[in-house]
Amino acid sequence: MNILGKLLWKCQKCGRYTLKRDKCPYCGGPLKSPYPPKFSPLDPYGEYRRKLKRELLKSKSE
Ligand SMILES: [Zn+2]
Repeated sequence: MNILGKLLWKCQKCGRYTLKRDKCPYCGGPLKSPYPPKFSPLDPYGEYRRKLKRELLKSKSE
């Protein structure tokens, strides 16, 4: 998977893909990342969640 693929967002209204993040350039509909949050390069909490998961796994194995 290339990096450009990860930057594409999907319109919830017409279903088209776009590089825009605020709204669909075709119909003005709301955009949504077609990828799960853990794959989103824009997720500000991704690092925190990964860290939390590591902590959970660690405590489980102890
Ligand atoms: Zn649209």
